[in-house]
Amino acid sequence: MRFFPGSRRRPIAAGGIALALTGGLVAPAIPATARTTPSAGAQTALPSGRTAYRTLGDYESELARLARRYPGKVRRITLPHRTLEGRTVRGIEIGHRVHARDGRPVFLMLGLHHSREWPSGELTMEFGYDLLNNDGRDRRITRLLDTTRVILVPVVNPDGFNQSRLGGVMENKRKNCRIVDGEPAPPPLCAQPENVRLGVDINRNYGFGWGGTGSSADKTASDYHGAAPFSEPEVRNVRDLVSGRQVTTLITNHTYGGTMLRPYFTKNSGDAPDEAAYKALSDRFETQNGYTGMKSGDDYETTGETNDWSYYATRGLGFTFEFGRETYHPAFETLAAEYHGSGQYAGKGNRGAFLLALENAADRRAHSVIAGRAPAGATLKISKKFTLWTSPWSKADGGTGAPLPVPTALSSTMVVGAGGRFSWDVNPSVRPQSPFTATGQSPVTGLVREAWTLTCTPRHDHGHGKNFKITVDRGQTAKVDLGRCR
Ligand SMILES: [Zn+2]
Repeated sequence: MRFFPGSRRRPIAAGGIALALTGGLVAPAIPATARTTPSAGAQTALPSGRTAYRTLGDYESELARLARRYPGKVRRITLPHRTLEGRTVRGIEIGHRVHARDGRPVFLMLGLHHSREWPSGELTMEFGYDLLNNDGRDRRITRLLDTTRVILVPVVNPDGFNQSRLGGVMENKRKNCRIVDGEPAPPPLCAQPENVRLGVDINRNYGFGWGGTGSSADKTASDYHGAAPFSEPEVRNVRDLVSGRQVTTLITNHTYGGTMLRPYFTKNSGDAPDEAAYKALSDRFETQNGYTGMKSGDDYETTGETNDWSYYATRGLGFTFEFGRETYHPAFETLAAEYHGSGQYAGKGNRGAFLLALENAADRRAHSVIAGRAPAGATLKISKKFTLWTSPWSKADGGTGAPLPVPTALSSTMVVGAGGRFSWDVNPSVRPQSPFTATGQSPVTGLVREAWTLTCTPRHDHGHGKNFKITVDRGQTAKVDLGRCR
């Protein structure tokens, strides 16, 4: 919302939020009984049963525990880049037959880009518990876990979050632990209170329009964009995750403001070519959570954010959710109300919006399908490469750099089942035209008619795949017969 000093804005004064954190008193991570009915208003507890904000250690142990408890439907994911303090970033993938290499579409939810926005990680985790608690009990959820994969990365920025959870002045930390550009920061540097304002705003570091409006070359500014697009390992993790899967719908969680943000992120970008579909889905979310859906640039303009990049790279619809109305991390009890739509949020919960987003990820009218015949056991790969561009970017010395090319490569695989028929839910090969180019930025609302390169490699025939070009637009199914892949 325009008038809230929410997370995407410059920070309000440090120390403005004082919360009693009792710590240590941790509820059982996995409840003995599941709550089943999706009706709003009746729920007073979170799906996990937790009663206090998680620490970084809580997140890590719960992700591992869920994978152990549900070995057939929860798989732990390790993201490829370690953080600056050397941490491993983890997530989980949830779905029936989760270890199969089939062609189901992916719904991705991200939390805690910004360190102090604690509910953004909490509600990401809780959605996972909710799905698992209700699988086999609630037909809607059971069907969704049959037809999609849900990937949750609750803590994208563990270094910053760990500092924020330590409390004191560090509680107001927003950014990652990039204290010295180009070098890893030894752990003590990030923990020093005088460095609370340093670090890169990792939600300004994505390689789409990077470095322009609404970001800063000033390292002490809350929106410091970093030394280069994708300079930060936490952001490369999300880039690689999205580039290596068919993420058809994405939500990146933040606090606060009660808004849901979609492209454009700068007014001079023009409407997204899929604005009608974007708005229609946002309007449906609004009926659930009561938030205000808007084009992000109409709130205020920024560059280098998660779902501006992800949409223009993949055409999967991505949204920024800004939970809450008042502070970065309100009293923990309000989270259950905000999740279920009970108490002070009666009738307005995020649970319903999350489920609609997951249904959109599954909806074949909203993405594309490649289907047909291929040898049983063959590995199919779709890939493409193209170039996105940064903005003319602000330099630390006050100058302006020419737009930088951002080489972009998408590639994902599936394995054909025993019957020799396959069906692969994919993002369209036809891509949104980028408003950012080598010569600057101009508004466009159009599509680039590009093809996926589909490589079919028979089992036991490594490296001898045959290539096919597949052009498929939103809502279309491309039917192919790949013969013997030779
Ligand atoms: Zn934020």
